[in-house]
Amino acid sequence: PDYRKAEFLTSAGKFSQCPEDSGWEVAFAGRSNAGKSSAINSLTANTKLARTSKTPGRTQLINFFSLSPEQRLVDLPGYGFAKVPQKIKLEWTKQLEAYLAQRQSLRGLILLMDVRHPLQPFDRQMLGWALAAQMPVHILLTKADKLKKGPAGNTLLQVRKDLKPHQDLVSVQLFSALKHTGHKELIRVLDGWLTD
Ligand code: GDP
Repeated sequence: PDYRKAEFLTSAGKFSQCPEDSGWEVAFAGRSNAGKSSAINSLTANTKLARTSKTPGRTQLINFFSLSPEQRLVDLPGYGFAKVPQKIKLEWTKQLEAYLAQRQSLRGLILLMDVRHPLQPFDRQMLGWALAAQMPVHILLTKADKLKKGPAGNTLLQVRKDLKPHQDLVSVQLFSALKHTGHKELIRVLDGWLTD
């Protein structure tokens, strides 16, 4: 697909409000501030598609972007922001779990983590749900430009080693929206998931 053709399709306040479950879909998830909006914006070359916000936890909505009538990118709500009340966090936890377990058109999950703080408890929870649903996960270690090559490479190896037991479903790469590193690798994964 041509990712620059991405257009906003719809928002869902909860799982039951998702658009028709047909075709192919790839979801993006990550803790607030992991760099998800920046990654989606740079992938689609559209600075306004997923609003980059400095107020994490702003919209608790699943946003759907269409690439073609049968192919979608999905922006899942950020989580892990201290100012969101526990009750709302729990409700979103439920919705995310339902989406990962039940969405037929979902072919894979892009999980974004700041390269400086990978595999936080909620990242592991997300991974756990995806693995339980036999859902492929591709991890972006974001803001790779914030570390020198050596330490960034070491983190990549460490995360790969940690997730080695799940290597049939999980892959990992470095990514920087700022320096445009890792784009080709990401697009190869997305292309594979969004076509048969
Ligand atoms: P989101 O909450 O996951 O959508 O995160 P954002 O995309 O809004 O990014 C959070 C913060 O990290 C913002 O201040 C971004 O400018 C910054 N950021 C995102 N991607 C990068 C990157 O690749 N490199 C650097 N240095 N900063 C980034």
